[in-house]
Amino acid sequence: MVVEKFHQMGVAKSRIRVLFEYGMAQAKIVGKENVFDFSIGNPSVPAPAKVADTVRELLETVDPITLHGYTPAGGCAEARESIAADLCKRTGTKIRPENIFFTCGAAPAMTSVMNALAVDGAEFVLLAPYFSEYPAYAKSTGATCVVVPPDTENFQIRFDELEKRITKNTQMVIVNSPNNPSGVIYSVETLQKLGEILTRKGEEFGHPIYIVSDEPYRELVYDGLDSAYIPAIYPNTIICYSYSKILSMPGERIGYVCVPDCCADSEAVYAAIAGAARAVGHVCAPSMWQLVVARNTELRPDLKTYDANRITLYTELTKMGFRCVKPQGAFYMMVEAPDGDSMAFSDRAKALNILTVPCDGFGCPGFTRFSTCVSPAMIQRSLPAFRKLAESYGLKAQA
Ligand code: PLP
Repeated sequence: MVVEKFHQMGVAKSRIRVLFEYGMAQAKIVGKENVFDFSIGNPSVPAPAKVADTVRELLETVDPITLHGYTPAGGCAEARESIAADLCKRTGTKIRPENIFFTCGAAPAMTSVMNALAVDGAEFVLLAPYFSEYPAYAKSTGATCVVVPPDTENFQIRFDELEKRITKNTQMVIVNSPNNPSGVIYSVETLQKLGEILTRKGEEFGHPIYIVSDEPYRELVYDGLDSAYIPAIYPNTIICYSYSKILSMPGERIGYVCVPDCCADSEAVYAAIAGAARAVGHVCAPSMWQLVVARNTELRPDLKTYDANRITLYTELTKMGFRCVKPQGAFYMMVEAPDGDSMAFSDRAKALNILTVPCDGFGCPGFTRFSTCVSPAMIQRSLPAFRKLAESYGLKAQA
């Protein structure tokens, strides 16, 4: 006998995976250059050279027993000190090494925080569009996910809908900005308003409502925009960070949770996160990669290719008559299905070998997601197929 809910999750393939595998099979039939795969968010820009340099340096200079050995569960002292010092510098606030808990990326960071806060009857608020894995992460916690429908004009937050959904059981609101799938960054005004509502509701219900800020795209921002440091706006914020996208190393599994001192019950929250991680077998994040990130806190992603892709795709598709959501960060762009049917749009695109993920699983039906971490040449090659797609909907090209 097996646990049915996990069995179902194990056999159900995500639409993203299905499309990705279809793309590989289709490439064998029509040729790789004729498949336009915008399905998956795997960074297409290589990790900065400094990452490999640091690995070499560590292999040559650090005693292998230490380098490949266990570290304390929350991370080794050098790594936690370095990340804390960097956060102090960037945010102008006081972050101590004791506030940092290293994890194997953002996904385990999020699941640990969710498990830590899933008291009996807990509700987790998801702001659509939200990362499609959150409901899966929440599954084993026993908490209920409550979805706030999307603001399909500006992709900020529908506060009227949010207010209606906050109850005495609300434990957290998950914020993901820059956002996957919209690419939109929440404005400071949006975050301030969110903070005001959560402060008021927290007082009304007599317990803090946490913002859990999932930030794997924090430095992937364009046009001189910036990601706000949310604890400075709303103190009861827990940060989940990852180097998967920022440093193009999703397979190395490294990230952290930061529970700042300003967060209500910060010591208890931190301890519960450590306990929740332990309960699912976390021993420590990869030791060598803790040191790699600790010694490279100044590294920033190379934004040139992603930025050029975002502009090309947005400009070309808009010119063809598609309604696109202009990305401000991350490496995704949402396009509205001209007739509102995102599943049919994805299927029609697929028939032209354009692979795009319907946003129904992101809580935003009517839109599909294009990953822009692809090669610029593929975008150029895909444009005739996009024109055919636009024609099939009778869209009018814009001047
Ligand atoms: N959160 C968001 C919003 C993501 O887009 C992803 C990955 O795509 C993750 C979390 C998981 O990232 P990681 O590879 O760090 O576990």
